[in-house]
Amino acid sequence: MSLIRVRFAPSPTGYLHVGGARTALFNFLLARHEGGVFILRIEDTDRERSRPELTESILESLEWLGLRWDEGPYHQADALPRHRADAERLLASGKAYRCFCSAEALAKRRGEAKRRGEPFAYDGRCRDVSPEESDRRAAGGEGFVLRFRVPEGVTSWNDLVHGPTSFENRYIDDFVLLRSDGTPTYNFAVVCDDIAMRITHVVRGDDHISNTPKQLLVYNALGVAPPAFAHVPLILGPDGKRLSKRHGATSVEAYRAAGIVPQAMVNFLALLGWSPDEDREVFDLDELVQRFTLAGIVKKSAIFDVQKLEWLDGQHLTRIPADRLEPIVTPLLTAAGLGGKALDERRAWYLRLLDVLKIRARTLHDIVRQARAYFPGPIAYNADAVRKHWADPQTASPILADLEAVVRDAGSFDEAALERALRDAASKRGVAAANYIHPLRVALTGEAVSPGIFEVAVLMGRDLVLQRLRDARAALERGQVVSSQG
Ligand code: GLU
Repeated sequence: MSLIRVRFAPSPTGYLHVGGARTALFNFLLARHEGGVFILRIEDTDRERSRPELTESILESLEWLGLRWDEGPYHQADALPRHRADAERLLASGKAYRCFCSAEALAKRRGEAKRRGEPFAYDGRCRDVSPEESDRRAAGGEGFVLRFRVPEGVTSWNDLVHGPTSFENRYIDDFVLLRSDGTPTYNFAVVCDDIAMRITHVVRGDDHISNTPKQLLVYNALGVAPPAFAHVPLILGPDGKRLSKRHGATSVEAYRAAGIVPQAMVNFLALLGWSPDEDREVFDLDELVQRFTLAGIVKKSAIFDVQKLEWLDGQHLTRIPADRLEPIVTPLLTAAGLGGKALDERRAWYLRLLDVLKIRARTLHDIVRQARAYFPGPIAYNADAVRKHWADPQTASPILADLEAVVRDAGSFDEAALERALRDAASKRGVAAANYIHPLRVALTGEAVSPGIFEVAVLMGRDLVLQRLRDARAALERGQVVSSQG
């Protein structure tokens, strides 16, 4: 079997959105699984809508996801001479013809069709302009577009997702190959380029299915065997409608900014329309490469569920070793005003902190939020935590005072010694240890849930723990246990 060559061909008219990213991922996975080649082509022939900074952002998102391409990025606009040469061949063989209908005339006919309640289709009136007349009018400077002469018959292919698929040609009107400014349309340029790049498999969204018969007709007219096609199901929002901004963020960049790690994003995208043959959901990129086949693509549409993305993010955060999390988290901590030099000076401590915090985080921002308590500076107390564990200042305050003594007097500041001392103090007052543990947790972290409280205390260090206990008592006594965060 010849080498598989696939491509991702985004148009730089927007950021990389999740649908595009999934297409890129499936192509990447197919190429890697098969030992093939993954090509990146920027489809920028639409000069008005293409923006170079969007190309940059697409490349950045792909790199962030870890989807390295083997060839490219090629820019479709650079291949204009080749597109025109292909168009010339079609014109010379009569498979394409010049259409001299002006944009205004077409708009008028479109308007009339609309008034009659009919769908508009080009009526083929320039089909029969003789080659001589056509050449003469073109040479005389009359404007024209180049149209494809759609033959009679049926166009079929065996879609690698949907199976045998066919379209009757009579429903396809003579589509434009070159615009009046000589630039190629999508349906033409894509074929010219896929031929030039020797693409073997076109894997793309279902929204392109109706383009495929047109493209197959062009392959045929150019005398080239077409690649295989696999159309991947659409991504829907939770309400079953096509995913759009109404459902929330749709760009990869937005999820990156929301604290999602690339491992989770890739995992999530893979499961949008593809299913491994096993009862497992958490995979890293290498594991996906090992498992990915086109046969695993499902026909029915995929539902975009942000909660699942966050769940997967939590799963991946837990697995990422602290030294790999560090470069991602450090800038976020710095931006939150935490860390700075302390992170360099206390690297071992910092890595330990990350290992503890990542377990309970669903996003990188959760890590930053939780981290605040481990750095000097005031913390906020969660309202529910306060209601549950500090409800009565008369009870809570003496407990916090006891805890202060426990912490101050504990000989060695380790988990076992602290726990022993706390249990002793509680039993001296004749109460269960939980009556000490919960108020301590609120004092140290502001929250009702946290990692094991003795681990938390040791990570904070004695001085900060004492400070937090004093702050807590002062706040209780002032009746100022305001809470936010909820
Ligand atoms: N530029 C097209 C798009 O972004 C590419 C479609 C294709 O893969 O053929 O939708």
